Amino acid sequence: MPINVLFAATPERWATYEPALRRAFGGAGLNVYLAQEIPADDVDYIVYAPNSELQDFTPYTRTKAVLNLWAGVEAIVGNTTLTQPLARMVDPGMTRSMTEWVTGHVLRHHLGMDRHILDQSGDWTPVVPPLAEERRVCVLGLGELGTSVARTLQSLRFSVSGWSRSPKDVAGINTFHGDAGLDDALRQAEILVLLLPDTPATHNTLDARRLALMPRGAFVINPGRGPLIDDDALLAALDSGQIAHATLDVFRVEPLPADHPYWAHPRVTVTPHIAAETRAKTASEVIAENIRRGEAGEPFLYLVDRSLGY
Ligand code: NAP
Repeated sequence: MPINVLFAATPERWATYEPALRRAFGGAGLNVYLAQEIPADDVDYIVYAPNSELQDFTPYTRTKAVLNLWAGVEAIVGNTTLTQPLARMVDPGMTRSMTEWVTGHVLRHHLGMDRHILDQSGDWTPVVPPLAEERRVCVLGLGELGTSVARTLQSLRFSVSGWSRSPKDVAGINTFHGDAGLDDALRQAEILVLLLPDTPATHNTLDARRLALMPRGAFVINPGRGPLIDDDALLAALDSGQIAHATLDVFRVEPLPADHPYWAHPRVTVTPHIAAETRAKTASEVIAENIRRGEAGEPFLYLVDRSLGY
């Protein structure tokens, strides 16, 4: 019996994903459809982007799993019509992309690149940066992405700590967990990277009290999700010099509204949610493996815990 896979994402993604999914399956036994091409009750699996038009899963009575194309599931996890297993995206290409993006922005701040790319003012004032081993970087979230980021920074000899909900043991990383652990982690965060999911428990993780715990003049890098940060508190911390610079890839409202104070702030870098895109080739291989598992009666990979929201 062929397996029917519905591709429910924005239509412009189809041209990239259709061949990638077929290739990942080796061409055997897989039909891939756009929504209008197949009756809902013939669909075995849904490859899903939360910004697709599909929001009511009730008609998909035969569907065995919904396979999210994004790592973040906050826009779908509360959908009460979705009763099938939901897998989030763990894509090696996305992980490498996030690791490269964060490493680049950590190095920018660590090395003081902005200061040392000289302009025509001719200000020749060298400020020698510390070595990486003298710089303390903290990664909030030690999941797929945070662990890869932490390991890569550690391999460059940064002094790396990390924080997660449950205890972790990552070689070479000083790990913290739970609420008390967060305060301790922040006290040593000269460069802070936020890679937590957007859940009710993570909203405003970085608030005024916690920003004040960080070493004065620290840097904040947020490729996680906008609601992790209390924006007013961050702006106040930037104005007071408690935070030297914030590099922000994600926001409560995207695109970031034209009148948002982040645009005009001299010590904020705004990037357009570009840190880590899902890569069709590697993501399709992950999707194919999960469908293979579903057909073989094996447990799905990367299932979302609906009670935790990630
Ligand atoms: P993940 O593997 O699920 O890891 C999430 C990490 O956050 C885990 O270590 C988890 O702790 C921790 N965590 C969750 N809730 C927590 C809480 N209440 N307190 C402390 N720690 C908590 O997720 P991922 O694949 O690394 O992705 C992380 C996030 O990155 C995504 O959810 C998404 O929002 C964002 N993202 C952004 C982009 C972009 O382009 N900007 C791209 C991809 C992903 P445990 O390990 O104990 O469970």
